[in-house]
Amino acid sequence: MIDVEDLIALVRNYNPRTNADLIRQAYAYGMKMHEGQMRKSGEPYFTHPVAVAAILTEQMLDDATIVTALLHDTIEDTKSTYTEVERLFGHEIAELVDGVTKLTNLQLSSGAAEQADNFRKLFMAMSKDLRVILVKLADRLHNMRTIKSMSPEKQARKSRETMDIFAPLAGRMGMQWMREELEDLGFRVLNPEARNSIIRRFLTLQKESGDVVHQITADIRTELERGKIEADVYGRAKKPFSIWRKMQEKDLAFSRLSDIYGFRIICQDMGDCYRILGLIHQRWRAVPGRFKDYISQPKTNGYRSIHTSVSGRDGKRVEVQIRTREMHEVAEAGVAAHWAYREGVRAKNPFAVDPGKWIAQLTERLNEGDHDEFMENVKLEM
Ligand code: MN
Repeated sequence: MIDVEDLIALVRNYNPRTNADLIRQAYAYGMKMHEGQMRKSGEPYFTHPVAVAAILTEQMLDDATIVTALLHDTIEDTKSTYTEVERLFGHEIAELVDGVTKLTNLQLSSGAAEQADNFRKLFMAMSKDLRVILVKLADRLHNMRTIKSMSPEKQARKSRETMDIFAPLAGRMGMQWMREELEDLGFRVLNPEARNSIIRRFLTLQKESGDVVHQITADIRTELERGKIEADVYGRAKKPFSIWRKMQEKDLAFSRLSDIYGFRIICQDMGDCYRILGLIHQRWRAVPGRFKDYISQPKTNGYRSIHTSVSGRDGKRVEVQIRTREMHEVAEAGVAAHWAYREGVRAKNPFAVDPGKWIAQLTERLNEGDHDEFMENVKLEM
């Protein structure tokens, strides 16, 4: 288990002015409250809230969120109460912990048909403070990472819920890495055969055509050098679940899928984004209908990027995303970018959306119209 000083060190990395005593106090309180409780894995229960707090340090979140993570199961699972948490840690943290508890008790139903209703409930729950959802998502992520010690039935149920509710929610909030990891963990439980077969296919492909990602990355770098633009290029194979989803949607065999590799070009400023797009389209043929400019038309969760698909080597399509460093931060952190700290101050990313306004927009629609319309709007917005 991460001890309290290690946890504080993780926070200090991005927030040197953290209130270390508050974290020490919450750590000691949580440990005392959960004393004697065990996880299914046999570990002390408190390892879980600590791991959730550690996940949130990766998102560089503020002290209130980290402390809430440490306390998130106390009101629900121990003799601790709202009043006591409020007396010890103040109103803000008590409200956050209470919000997470209420969310845990929310009856969410699995299944696409109920999705609109689930999202309505979730959006209502987070309309007060979005940090409640950030803690809940980190909670779910840690539970999914450690799902192997649960019974097979519970593994299946939790995985379906993750696929139907939490992964899409992370996506909607603009947290792509979280969405992908949740999907992968759920997919691993629900359809290990499909996941393994896709992974095997990638290995075969790599044997046949070599390291395609490396080759295309090098090709893109050559073009950037030719255009005298400085940028970082990252390439990767798409995740098994997104490949599998595409195979289902388009009813295609793996061998006929294109677009299995994605590339990201991260550059200095907006002007470079468009210059790079020019270089890419001059060098490779653009695939019709695949160009999207989310820089001039950002998504409401703050996402900005240029997307295009081009025919690369062997006529295989690859997807290319082009954005600046600041846009990239928002693309990874989503609405959480608003709370992120850098060197002790709120990292004022000009592209981060105000979570309050974002939620207000969504819930306004939700209160106005019927659910179908709400879902349509949410989908369009995202
Ligand atoms: Mn928990």
